[in-house]
Amino acid sequence: MTIEIEISKIFTFESAHFLPFFPEGHKCRRLHGHSFRLQTYIKGELQKGILMDYGEIKRVVKPFVDMLDHRLINEVGQEINSPLLQNPTSENLALWFAQVLTPILPQLSAIRIHETCTTECFLRLK
Ligand SMILES: [Zn+2]
Repeated sequence: MTIEIEISKIFTFESAHFLPFFPEGHKCRRLHGHSFRLQTYIKGELQKGILMDYGEIKRVVKPFVDMLDHRLINEVGQEINSPLLQNPTSENLALWFAQVLTPILPQLSAIRIHETCTTECFLRLK
């Protein structure tokens, strides 16, 4: 029997964005805000009954969440020269978090971005 254990930690951030590639007149092209929810998933081997300390996940992920919190994400994208954040769709936000977190959190197995209560983007890494 193979058992896989995955744990998850949720982060929230309030940010503004606009999606410059949406058609003229589309509501998502206008500047607007969301209460975003980032859900990070960790997969790996149990060591003494624990996969990873949730506090350690927070220590690694929170600085990147703080970069976007109460900011215009497109502007952050310009500041750090990230094409993904300059077009901050849920998909690109998930890709950006994967890009910045994978090198320092190799156990990261998936990312979920909720833009609203009824929409989500799910990115599976392994
Ligand atoms: Zn939006």
